[in-house]
Amino acid sequence: MRIGLDLGGTKIEGILLSNGGAIEQKVRVETPSDNYRKTVDSVCRLIKNLQPPTPVPVGIGTPGSLVLPEGLMKNSNSVCLNHKPLQRDVETKLGYEIRIENDANCFILSEAIYGAAAAAQSAFGVILGTGCGGGFVFNKRLVTGPNGIAGEWGHNCIPVSVRDLIKQDRICHCGRTNCIETVISGRGLTQTHFENFNQTLEASEIAQLAENNNSDAMKSIDTYAKQLAYSLVTIVNMVDPHSIVLGGGVSNIKALYELVPKYLTHVIFNDAVHTKILPPAFGDASGAIGAACLWPEN
Ligand SMILES: [Zn+2]
Repeated sequence: MRIGLDLGGTKIEGILLSNGGAIEQKVRVETPSDNYRKTVDSVCRLIKNLQPPTPVPVGIGTPGSLVLPEGLMKNSNSVCLNHKPLQRDVETKLGYEIRIENDANCFILSEAIYGAAAAAQSAFGVILGTGCGGGFVFNKRLVTGPNGIAGEWGHNCIPVSVRDLIKQDRICHCGRTNCIETVISGRGLTQTHFENFNQTLEASEIAQLAENNNSDAMKSIDTYAKQLAYSLVTIVNMVDPHSIVLGGGVSNIKALYELVPKYLTHVIFNDAVHTKILPPAFGDASGAIGAACLWPEN
């Protein structure tokens, strides 16, 4: 057994995960809004509630990452966590060691161990939601590095080959211009649709219209798939993952699983694409499952 927590901006979800990947228990509480102390208290209370009589290891997935060696959080959209020693504070309160990892990394770890990419030797995961997170797993282990940013390709610049698909430069929340995230996040799709058809719709609404054969929405989804494929080819040409698993709200758009491989064939440095582009096996639970998987089965 292991405990996994997904510490999000609005909710904290905690699970007790069996060896084999079954969720034995699940608890969900609201995240105290913008209050670091209360957030640490809630996290520790939830862990204590889940702990069986013989304590099991604990992992936490959260937006952002730990800056080493100081151990302070950065890049979290739950901004009260930034510059705070989250891991140290939780460990002090609990009295034992825990592990913390970026939520996109937890997502792909869960999919690579128990989910869509369980049969793959290597898997890249992309969360296409409000923003765009990424992570890479090789031989069931996360690839991490000294900057704590492995997989954060969403803040690379969009390829010049798809620059013409946007009407004007897009400023990313990170301060850079034309980050991949500005086109392939849900907000990016909304903006592309607005630029072309002067209509403001959520990504899910555009997807629904496209399924009902609305030609404007179908064009926007097609443009989006091309932007995503041309952005992903950097990953494919560099580390050649066996599988790419899409997650987040935008991953519900079924057309992507035909269109992205098609557009990848246009730009990959090969005659054919053998990379599998897969929908996720787990929904909301992937973050907590992946956080538990930061520890091996015991
Ligand atoms: Zn950016």
